[in-house]
Amino acid sequence: MKRFPHRENPTTHSPDLTDLTGRQAVVTGAGSGIGRACAHRLAAAGAHVVVVDMDAEATAKVAAEVSGTPVVADLSTPDFTDALPPGTDIVVNNAGFQHVAPIEDFPPEVFAKILKVMVEAPFLLVRSVLPGMYERGWGRVVNISSIHGLRASPYKAAYVTAKHALEGLSKVIALEGAPHGVTSTCVCPGYVRTPLVEKQIDAQAETHGIGRDEVIERIMLAPAAIKRLIEPEEVAELVAYLCGPHGSFLTGVSLPVDGGWTAH
Ligand code: NAP
Repeated sequence: MKRFPHRENPTTHSPDLTDLTGRQAVVTGAGSGIGRACAHRLAAAGAHVVVVDMDAEATAKVAAEVSGTPVVADLSTPDFTDALPPGTDIVVNNAGFQHVAPIEDFPPEVFAKILKVMVEAPFLLVRSVLPGMYERGWGRVVNISSIHGLRASPYKAAYVTAKHALEGLSKVIALEGAPHGVTSTCVCPGYVRTPLVEKQIDAQAETHGIGRDEVIERIMLAPAAIKRLIEPEEVAELVAYLCGPHGSFLTGVSLPVDGGWTAH
């Protein structure tokens, strides 16, 4: 086994910290929200982006925007990795969805699907690309976890369970990948302005009979010090940093992008 074969050079100060020219990045759930922003940011850094999503129209649109490769795939199916081109250097495990219900009413099939898409699919994807990364002696796995990978909220049993599991998977990838130049990290955002959250705002506004602004400030951002939603581009910027040379010593860690939520 090769032991720590390469020395990247993060001490070279360059205005562009994230030159990813020649790298191929797979971004799941790239048709929308954070995934789309990551696809754009990694492409802007020079990577060739494989845009993976189950929404065919969105996949084609984003792939065209970033001059990438579209792959329409449902991550809840076990053979989705067959559709991916070879040569992946970067994986952004991003696809996910939410279901809000008390445990006693939580549909078991929804619980199982959330774990499939948000834990099993990242495992299968990473499992399929690691041999190539090991051969080339370089790789980056960035897992879009959540503040809910670090903290629980009521009524989000499957999502909180899945994100905590993803945190564990990321650490194991970090330990196994280190001798081969592969890093694995979790990015843990608070509430980001994406369609996933817009739906939750609407649902809460209806449930509580209050306005959307009040839902954001009084309910969603109650534990956060900074009372605004994060923009997807802010998350994507951190992802790009982690994929670049300056991310080479960051592995096995979880980085909250949470406006001070975990400072409590
Ligand atoms: P989003 O805008 O809903 O985007 C998620 C994308 O994933 C959608 O395009 C969705 O397709 C796709 N997707 C869902 N299930 C899939 C499957 N089985 N196979 C393939 N693609 C699938 O959500 P987002 O807010 O950007 O969230 C992205 C990630 O960030 C998720 O893992 C989420 O947990 C995490 N996150 C989000 C926030 C936030 O506040 N938004 C905070 C922390 C973490 P469809 O549109 O067709 O369903």
